[in-house]
Amino acid sequence: MRIQFLNSLAFATLIAVAVPLLAQQPAAPKHQDTEVYEPVPPIVTPGATDAAPPSDAIVLFDGKNLDQWVSNKDKSPAKWIVADGILTVNKKAGNIETKQTFKDYQLHIEWRIPKNITGSDQARGNSGVFLASTGPGDDGYELQVLDSYNNKTYVNGQAGSIYKQGIPLANPARKPGEWQSYDVVWTAPRFKSDGSLETPAYVTVFFNGVLVQNHFELKGQTLYIGKPFYKKYDRAPIKLQAHGDHSEPISFRNIWVRELK
Ligand code: MG
Repeated sequence: MRIQFLNSLAFATLIAVAVPLLAQQPAAPKHQDTEVYEPVPPIVTPGATDAAPPSDAIVLFDGKNLDQWVSNKDKSPAKWIVADGILTVNKKAGNIETKQTFKDYQLHIEWRIPKNITGSDQARGNSGVFLASTGPGDDGYELQVLDSYNNKTYVNGQAGSIYKQGIPLANPARKPGEWQSYDVVWTAPRFKSDGSLETPAYVTVFFNGVLVQNHFELKGQTLYIGKPFYKKYDRAPIKLQAHGDHSEPISFRNIWVRELK
């Protein structure tokens, strides 16, 4: 009886010691451990070409009208010229901006410098895509549009630059008269309740399919004169620039945006 009891005790002790030891052994990793099934990415039907809007895009200009745009100055209907499916700057009408406001987004826009452009430096096909038009009196955040095919200017002001802040990583500019594209990922700056900066704006830009801004950190609004600074805003329109000093007006087409959540 006693031996049997001792044997049982020994066995129980063995179990008591061994089971926790075994439990401490990490399980062999399995491929299932690193495979997740949620959240399921939403279905997005791509456009017929990379220039065409995918199914979840907000179309800002489809070649037909300026219903999505207003004058930057007084919010009256935008008076740029729409003809033959393209949008052309009317410098007398000034800058135009979207009716809708945006925070973080993906943007596609195409632009064309006229074939017979004249002028030089910054006065040769100057326009701009303001990634956030933050209000009256603000400079906003400009992705430069300019003829940069054999046109010398300051490099932080050529096509594909974040004006006076970000030199493009390459110059893939096409000749005047040819269509060019920007594909942009804009991450808006975040501000604290006291108006101070929480996180800066970042931008990634493909120019004619070539990466020219790679998660570039902005130092603030893109100023013509002076050092950039941030001013609190939440959502903002996208603005197109009527620079006014070019010999021939710049045109745009295929403009769409996808809001990023
Ligand atoms: Mg400009």
